[in-house]
Amino acid sequence: MIQLTALNQNIEPIIITATLDTALCIGAGGASDTLADKSVIRNAAGNLIIPASQLKGRLRHECEKLARGLKYPVCSSPKGETMCPQRVGIEGDFEREDYEHINIISRSRQYHCIICQIFGNPSLPSRVIFEDLICEEEPENLPKVLRPGVTINRRRKIAEENKLYFLETSPMNLKLTFTGQCYLTPDFPDVGKIFLLTAFKHIQALGGSKSSGLGWLTWQINNLTTDKLIWEKLKKGVEKNVSN
Ligand SMILES: [Zn+2]
Repeated sequence: MIQLTALNQNIEPIIITATLDTALCIGAGGASDTLADKSVIRNAAGNLIIPASQLKGRLRHECEKLARGLKYPVCSSPKGETMCPQRVGIEGDFEREDYEHINIISRSRQYHCIICQIFGNPSLPSRVIFEDLICEEEPENLPKVLRPGVTINRRRKIAEENKLYFLETSPMNLKLTFTGQCYLTPDFPDVGKIFLLTAFKHIQALGGSKSSGLGWLTWQINNLTTDKLIWEKLKKGVEKNVSN
């Protein structure tokens, strides 16, 4: 694994801690050492993990909702051609000062929405870098838990025949904690900090089977702070969005 600390010695990391209120089922299908149809994800050392890619995807989704709510023009992920700077078929006033970006390779002026400025797109590197969140509990203390389920036919409101499946989850109600770090690059947009913090508050559960009580968690985010100046900047941005 790349040691992000070695790459970012001058950047103080943000410490993310997730405490599970129930059990977690962030699944990978078809693992060889389990009878489950969908198993939990572990790293090479056998620790349960919440993958960085999954966390980043959820945060991006929440930030997109927030940005649209605040009337920021936002492109459409995850297809490259509908994302910045191409935005094929996407309407909106993207050519604004706070979206301006000079591409250092082509030396051309481009416009990237607030979400792409935070999370990146095929032509702009992400300005926030996540590590996997790793469960602190030793793997040998965590027995495998299989949870049976059955596929429901929503139209006929009955259980489908021959559709019994098994999910592997972490043990229930152990208040397991997962920790990891995240880094913001020096050119990370200030107001993005408000977006990230708010997005964490909106993620109350992760993984599948949330409605059957899996994946509910509480976050603690250290070293990600905002101040009055950043809120002023956001306010100015929103005023501009509304007046356009
Ligand atoms: Zn964009």
